[in-house]
Amino acid sequence: MEFSILSESFNKMESTRKRLELTQFLVELFEKTPHDVISKIVYLIQGKLRPDFEGIELGVAEKLAIRAISKSAGIPIKKIEEEYRKSGDLGHASSIILEQKTQTTFLVEDITVERVYETLFKIAKLGGSRSQDMKMKYISSLLNDATPLEASFILKILLGTLRLGIAENTVMDALAVAFTGEKENRKKLQYAYNVSSDLGKVAETIATKGLEGIEKFEIVLFNPIRPMLADRVKSEAEAIEKMGNEFAAEYKLDGERVQLHIEGDKVMLFSRSLENIESYYPDIIEKIPKNIQADNIILEAEAVAINENTGEFLPFQELMHRRRKYKIEKAVTEYPISVNFFDVLYCNGKNCIELSYKERRETLEKHVKEDEFAKYIPMSIVKNENDIEDFMENSINAGSEGLMLKMLDKPYQAGSRGSHWLKLKREYRNELGDSLDLVVIGGYFGKGRRTGNYGTLLLATYDEDEDTFPSICKVGTGFSDDSLDQLFQILHPKVSIKKNPRIISEMEADVWFEPELVIEVVASEITLSPIHKAAMNAIRKDAGLALRFPKFTGKIRVEKAVEDASTNEEVITLYKGQKKIAHDKNLM
Ligand code: ATP
Repeated sequence: MEFSILSESFNKMESTRKRLELTQFLVELFEKTPHDVISKIVYLIQGKLRPDFEGIELGVAEKLAIRAISKSAGIPIKKIEEEYRKSGDLGHASSIILEQKTQTTFLVEDITVERVYETLFKIAKLGGSRSQDMKMKYISSLLNDATPLEASFILKILLGTLRLGIAENTVMDALAVAFTGEKENRKKLQYAYNVSSDLGKVAETIATKGLEGIEKFEIVLFNPIRPMLADRVKSEAEAIEKMGNEFAAEYKLDGERVQLHIEGDKVMLFSRSLENIESYYPDIIEKIPKNIQADNIILEAEAVAINENTGEFLPFQELMHRRRKYKIEKAVTEYPISVNFFDVLYCNGKNCIELSYKERRETLEKHVKEDEFAKYIPMSIVKNENDIEDFMENSINAGSEGLMLKMLDKPYQAGSRGSHWLKLKREYRNELGDSLDLVVIGGYFGKGRRTGNYGTLLLATYDEDEDTFPSICKVGTGFSDDSLDQLFQILHPKVSIKKNPRIISEMEADVWFEPELVIEVVASEITLSPIHKAAMNAIRKDAGLALRFPKFTGKIRVEKAVEDASTNEEVITLYKGQKKIAHDKNLM
């Protein structure tokens, strides 16, 4: 397939932020795409080469790209840097530079999607000392044969700056329309995606085998499954109302969710956002196979930092010390953990997600042996408010955040947040203490002690219907000097020249970020707002919702994807809940 088809399509997509229009452009593109290339196209659209869990990163530095442009255009580096400074986007700058190309190439080879993809793949795989020269060779070979528009998109993919603003849901909508004629079929694609976490594979299957192939999608060992998530409740009474008269309560431990895939000694670990996290937990890899009594298994557990002397659970932040590339052995000894299993999704070649909670827990206890390092998460069957309160007390005393409440007869709903699992955190019992996980979308430079850092951040919720990030507040309190430094390190590379189309805000900001980071905040109240866009028109026409006196809690939620941030729905529920409390108080 000619790469020009893709670059022209990307060019159109960059010009709009409307989801319907983007879907339409995608449908047109998919209809022109040969079936054996479609998975590649789907990855490229997302600026990737393979699904996230494979961890294939391009990692080409700007400097190297500039050298490659210079080589293939025969134009001095200085001039390219000048153009880059003017336009702020190297991809765009390169297309202007290549228009003025002084060197002519005689044997121009056609650029195909396949060739671009394979070359990018080779670049991503290159390592070692001689890799820079090789990378440059590959890049300039592509640029030599590319038109200016093609070159600009090749560079954007290489540098990780392709921002089409297309979410997974939009891709699935378009696949459903292009290959089945009905958007409704997106639900079937969604299931396939939930069990495989691989949108390219889903695309290839729908294109080559149709819905029949999609319906046969199965869990595959070492391929992560998208996690099931919980709704929140505020009180024991609300939990009973929603769960009925008998259900399971488990400790909600404050650690990192880990999905373990195990066969013999081979172990793979995935985070909540399905990133491969084996390197942070060599102790899990080494020890856990001994606890498994099955040929193969997929398990879910919470890895929690512990005090080895007392066995007490320590807060999530302790685990951050393990998120490092070097000296991991030292971190493993200094920050010991325990692995606390709470679910099984696959066992001895069989899918377990259709089993009820009760059956899954039995399977878990049958096939995993406990010891000092590996435990089942403490669980109790509860029947009334008293039972929940007692178990909550135990759980808090042990150092956990609260309880997870799970319906006994329900299956595991991969990839969705539903009411079969509820979380009851201790702090939810305070009227104002609710924490929210919000997406960082903009920043304001600090003054005084905060000079050189972002002193204030602009935050957003996730709008599930529109697949956008509407602003909800600015936050400038709760930051320690350390956290300001840490946030700057994380956020600085995410600065974008143009506001990402998925950001909905009329606020001014010193810088806009690519919406990629989630942080936790608490606030005193949720109010109607004429400025902020979260839950716009949901409570009152022309008004959104905003947080009053927001404060950063110190938790940078690196394990969360932005689509897992607090949604408009959740904020609306909190807003209504607080109204109800005020109303009840007035009646007292
Ligand atoms: P939170 O912000 O409350 O951690 P979340 O959005 O990450 O929530 P939820 O599904 O809302 O995810 O809450 C469940 C999270 O709590 C899981 O992702 C997991 O990391 C953690 N957890 C701790 N104990 C349990 C348990 N017993 N069962 C399921 N998840 C648990």
